[in-house]
Amino acid sequence: MTLTLPFDNSYARLPDRFYAAQIPVPVAGPRLLAVNEGLAEELGLDPATLASDEGVAALSGNAVPEGATPIAQAYAGHQFGGWVPQLGDGRAVLLGEVVANGRRRDIQLKGAGRTPFSRGGDGRAWLGPVLREYLVSEAMHAMGVPTTRALAAVATGENVMRETPLPGAVLTRVASSHIRVGTFQYFYARDDVEALRTLTEHVIARHYPDADGPEGLLEAVIDAQAALIARWMGLGFIHGVMNTDNMSIAGETIDYGPCAFLDGYHPETVFSSIDRWGRYAYAQQPQVAVWNLAQFATCLLPMMADRETAIDRFTTAVNDFGARYQREWLSVFRAKLGLATEEEDDSGLIERLLDIMAANRDDFTRVFRGLGDDTASDHVTDRPAFDQWHQMWTARLTRDGTSEADRHDRMTRANPAVIPRNHHVEAVIAAAVAGDMDLFHAMHRATTDPFTPHDLFGQSPAPGEEVQATFCGT
Ligand code: AMP
Ligand code: MG
Ligand code: MG
Repeated sequence: MTLTLPFDNSYARLPDRFYAAQIPVPVAGPRLLAVNEGLAEELGLDPATLASDEGVAALSGNAVPEGATPIAQAYAGHQFGGWVPQLGDGRAVLLGEVVANGRRRDIQLKGAGRTPFSRGGDGRAWLGPVLREYLVSEAMHAMGVPTTRALAAVATGENVMRETPLPGAVLTRVASSHIRVGTFQYFYARDDVEALRTLTEHVIARHYPDADGPEGLLEAVIDAQAALIARWMGLGFIHGVMNTDNMSIAGETIDYGPCAFLDGYHPETVFSSIDRWGRYAYAQQPQVAVWNLAQFATCLLPMMADRETAIDRFTTAVNDFGARYQREWLSVFRAKLGLATEEEDDSGLIERLLDIMAANRDDFTRVFRGLGDDTASDHVTDRPAFDQWHQMWTARLTRDGTSEADRHDRMTRANPAVIPRNHHVEAVIAAAVAGDMDLFHAMHRATTDPFTPHDLFGQSPAPGEEVQATFCGT
């Protein structure tokens, strides 16, 4: 029997040059590692069916579900600022789209074998990054951040060759779409204005039905990215590889490669071992977004009748990212400080706390969480500076005037107690490689309930336990 999913594949109905038809490459020994029951139900799918033999066959790429039109999508992109005219899904296959509860979502297998876009790669993923993406994307969702989701992880029963042989796995990724800034760049670079128009229409209908033409789309994407990146900053999240092909037009966090959460706070923190110049450091993320959005705006220009006027208006829109981002950032950090009202110098108050934390790399998550629990000072090194700041904050709270209970509630929801910390993710991966998935499931439970303290997964790394570098780890 083959699985039947209620597919409606709008992207596969676009012209042939948008993708390559691509059947996933079968694997030797598929075995289910995890299935996301809540997400399955949201998608109108039966989790038990997904976990059955026919389900696992579909999730590993060994059988193509009824109704799927498997494709590898074409895209291009700037990687670390360098232009690459053709990237595309080199190891991912989009099975199709499912519409449930009024939402259309892609179901994609990541690690499903070589495609015409694989270049030198093997088309596969190893267990580590699959589990990392599963954990981190689901934690992001639980913390209210727009993100791709993880529906399932399957072991392939095959090794993949990295520096050493490692166990292979396939992630089933769910996204509002996998359309990227790089998808637009692919057609822009080919002077294919007709494809740009088709893509723009598709994206507006799918993601921004209220947007009026390319200019409306640009504004909508700028807004979505400003909101998204402010959320990242509020959680100490570093994406790690904000290439234009990893920026989603739908405004979701996508492509969890060398991503990581800050333990100790410092704005210049970089984890990715390949980010040698700190292009994608924590504090660089808003600027990188502007750079990427400027590339996006450029791709929209060929559709505009009056090019000169459009250049002016698009430039203004992209430059306005800063102001939009600042508003979002303030709203995120005001909530973290428990503030319901707005005052002129709130940004100064927030920055002052961040400076005190940065001076000694105090733990970002524990300090903010501690503000609501009255334990923050336990996690700050420079106590005199913190006490002084605390007086300013207390005075500000008095002017804010909200009740203690309201404030506590607001702060508890804005400041997670549990984030997927690097040292825990690495322990989970090591256990899984050794055949034990229990730690993964325990961490998944803790990080998808992020506002409830947890004895193990709420812990910051002890000295020496701290992870210094993450690897693209494809
Ligand atoms: P990323 O750095 O993950 O955004 O990927 C950049 C490009 O490399 C995309 O076109 C991917 O599809 C491709 N890629 C990454 N890993 C592999 C792999 N193991 N095999 C083939 N293509 C890959
Ligand atoms: Mg990518
Ligand atoms: Mg990647």
